This record gives sequence, structure tokens and C-alpha cells, in this order.
Amino acid sequence: MQEWIAVLKAADAAARWHTHQRRKGPAGEPYINHLLEVAMLVAQATHGSDPNLVIAALLHDAIEDSEVPRDLIAAAFGEEVAAIVMEVTDDKSLPQAERKRIQVETAAHKSHKAKVLKLADKTSNIRAIAASPPADWSVKRRMEYVDWAEAVGRELRGVCPWLEGQLDEAVAAARRTFTPDTTGTTGK
Ligand code: ZN
Repeated sequence: MQEWIAVLKAADAAARWHTHQRRKGPAGEPYINHLLEVAMLVAQATHGSDPNLVIAALLHDAIEDSEVPRDLIAAAFGEEVAAIVMEVTDDKSLPQAERKRIQVETAAHKSHKAKVLKLADKTSNIRAIAASPPADWSVKRRMEYVDWAEAVGRELRGVCPWLEGQLDEAVAAARRTFTPDTTGTTGK
């Protein structure tokens, strides 16, 4: 199959598998927006050289959120894609705090492709926290989320300077939304 057809087939599958899912913020964007953003980030980060990584990005939450069987992904998109998706899939039987701790601890030991994908995923998620934070998240919870995502990102340093820059920018932009705007107040 031509690679670009496989990429579109993955985008189509992702749209179907996440069709009823929305981002948590008040804007309630369709979940496919997140998947496309992550796919775009990894495509740019790899200069369009790695279709399987783009496909894995489109499908990266399919197992975790939509319980799509790994074998189904492997049969449709190949073993490499399924393996990358598995690497970025949390064990949902564990409590959330435990899953977060494991993400920090294991990030540095992932494959190169999984690391690039994780950087892109965290970048997209932090951008969403800044642009449209979940209405029921306190400032403290948002700050803790950004601190945690930054900690995961720290474990992925050296993987892709461009993507690391995108993550740093997203973290800084999110933090700016936590503090009152003091521009123009010089205290005089
Ligand atoms: Zn994601």
C-alpha cells in the first residue's frame, strides 16, 4: 500500500474509533483534533520521513481510550505501528497517580520513535491546558499537570531539539495563563 494511503486510512480509523470522544476543555474539541495535532508534530519533527510514526501518532490513544485490540492495529497497519502504540499506552488497571509516576520513570527507556511520539503528545496536551483548560480543574491541578508533563519531557531530552522547543514553548505559555497579567503595571 502506498504510504500516504496508509496514513489516511489511519486518520479515518482514528476518527471512527474516537468518534464520541471530546477533549476535556470547555471548547470540547473533537478528539481527532488532538490526534491530528500529534501526527502533524511527529511528521514535522521527522521531516515527513517516517509514515509509520505518523500512523502510530494517529492511533496512539486507540488502545488506551477506545480499547481497540493491539492485534487489530497490527493486522491493519503492521507490527511496528502496533508496537509503538503499545509503548505509549498506559496500564489502565493501575491508579492514575501510579500511571503518572511510571510515565516519568520509563520515558527514558522507550524506543526513539515512542519518545518522539510522547514529546508530541505532551506538547499537544499542554497546549490544550493553556487554550481550553477543563472547567473542573483548579489552577493547582493545571499547574501540577504542567509540572508532571515537563518532568516526562525532561526524561526525553536529546531526542528531537525542535520538538523539545515546542514543548518548552507550550509549558511557558501554559504557565503564563496561571499568573495575573501584569503588563503595563510598572508600579509607578
Ligand atoms: Zn494523546
